Amino acid sequence: MASTPLITLNDGVTIPQLGFGVWQIPDEEVAEKVRVALEAGYRHIDTAKAYRNESGVGEALRSSGLARDDIFVTTKLWNTDQGYDSTLAAFDGSMERLGLDVLDLYLIHWPQPMFDDYLDTWKAMVKLKEDGRIRSIGVSNFLPEHLDKIIGETGVVPSVNQIEVHPRFQQRELRAFCAEKGIAVEGWSPLGRGNMLEDPSITAIASAHGKTAAQVVIRWHLQHGNILFPKSVTPSRIRENFEVFDFELSADQIAALDAMDDPEGRTGPNPATFDLR
Ligand code: NAD
Repeated sequence: MASTPLITLNDGVTIPQLGFGVWQIPDEEVAEKVRVALEAGYRHIDTAKAYRNESGVGEALRSSGLARDDIFVTTKLWNTDQGYDSTLAAFDGSMERLGLDVLDLYLIHWPQPMFDDYLDTWKAMVKLKEDGRIRSIGVSNFLPEHLDKIIGETGVVPSVNQIEVHPRFQQRELRAFCAEKGIAVEGWSPLGRGNMLEDPSITAIASAHGKTAAQVVIRWHLQHGNILFPKSVTPSRIRENFEVFDFELSADQIAALDAMDDPEGRTGPNPATFDLR
């Protein structure tokens, strides 16, 4: 069975570069989908409190027969739980639903700068890591000013920043900023939610390799060093998205996808203004 490359984070923890994302999969269905993913070889699951499916993910982990150390689990702190004490409480809730003693990676889901409490939230995450409850801590949707603030105030550099990245919205400057600080980039909606898979620049490369458009986009991420976790509920696609370790894109093919970048290509909210609570 194929296995994914591992990326070593700035705290020495290793994370499988290709994982399985479970946003929008209902709790009652997620266990079955995670089981399909684990059988296909995935060893990294990306969930969040806001996805309301941590219980189903936990159930799949328990019934998988795999050792706890063999699976990397990420969950995220939701916007309404920001603040020091509320972060500690929200973490306990997520761990109870997941049925885990130690979490691999905990992320602040959005900075929500207009509420100005992500620094207190970060301090609670640092405490949970010091207490041995989390192996790695990181953030999601953080812009340089948010990263500078938490690093400047605590001296603790997040291990990852999970941001929207796909060929139509590449965030090169933010990725370079993270690389300079030693923060690994996780690309969310790595397939652009499936919207770009008919693009002729991608389908031509896919035919040349006898692969699918989704597999080409996943290779583009892997070869750029991004961590990613495409989502699907279709078993054949879940398996397809993991069958990407038997071919490589050439420098020209990478350049063709690089050329698709569009500053207006965002599919999700802008972190500077997103204020959902
Ligand atoms: P994605 O880019 O992974 O696209 C998923 C969609 O692409 C599927 O619903 C399906 O329509 C299509 N698709 C998947 N595989 C395919 C294939 N082989 N062939 C054809 N079509 C295929 O989108 P996503 O779910 O938005 O993102 C992936 C994960 O990223 C999420 O599940 C979640 O874990 C994470 N995420 C995080 C944030 C955040 O704010 N931190 C935001 C969005 C997503």
